[in-house]
Amino acid sequence: MTFDILTLFPDMAGSPFAESIVGKAVDRGLLEINAHNLRDWATGRHQTTDDSPYGGGDGMVFKPEPAVAAIRALREQRPGAKVLLMSPQGKRFDQQEAARLANEPGLIFLCGRYEGFDERIRDYVDDEYSIGDFVLTGGELAAMVMIDAIARLVTGVLGSSGSAETDSFSDGLLEYPQYTRPVEFEGKRVPDVLLSGNHAEIARWRRHEQLRRTLQRRPDLLEDLELSDMERQTLQQLRDEDVK
Ligand code: SAM
Repeated sequence: MTFDILTLFPDMAGSPFAESIVGKAVDRGLLEINAHNLRDWATGRHQTTDDSPYGGGDGMVFKPEPAVAAIRALREQRPGAKVLLMSPQGKRFDQQEAARLANEPGLIFLCGRYEGFDERIRDYVDDEYSIGDFVLTGGELAAMVMIDAIARLVTGVLGSSGSAETDSFSDGLLEYPQYTRPVEFEGKRVPDVLLSGNHAEIARWRRHEQLRRTLQRRPDLLEDLELSDMERQTLQQLRDEDVK
């Protein structure tokens, strides 16, 4: 899968993708991640990419010409790739969106700065994403967060380093608590069931803990979730116990 980042600061996008799981997937040819300088598509002696806003106001606005020229050039290089505009006004990025986008052949991220984009640029992109209800100085970190979350869901990327199936949000719930050696640490013991070797019991305990944890920390996630009758009963019991 290819990821292209259109930015005024291409150097920002290097090192996070050179390490660990994503770095190995790049080395293995499963992922290709490139950053491009938007200024390369700006014309004129000063290669200007922004200008002051019509109507007045602070800050600078991205001009349409360089961004649209860059989008057109990359669309030609990457047939089928989707162009995503980074914006706090976009659709909220989450695990479901990450899983959906991991099936695309390629993604092109358009990163803003300053006051953002000339409104007309929106007609040239496929979608607009926000990573949360806060305002960053630029779209690069947002694009990198999205690439990291999407890349680990591309087939083969996690390999033996783990599975995304049990991760929080994958099935709508938070993940169950995890433990490793030692069995006892400063008087805190690993739950006996995890040492029992009984896989059915372990699976039951983990599902119960997923429900408990989600009810405690993110009850909003439970609102639209499809649950079995048994799971609904468990949830009701946890509510009756007034899980805190
Ligand atoms: N004036 C814009 C507004 O209020 O909607 C904010 C511009 S912001 C300072 C500059 C750039 O950072 C944006 O164009 C966008 O690319 C990026 N950005 C900021 N917050 C973001 C967020 N929550 N998610 C994704 N991109 C974001």
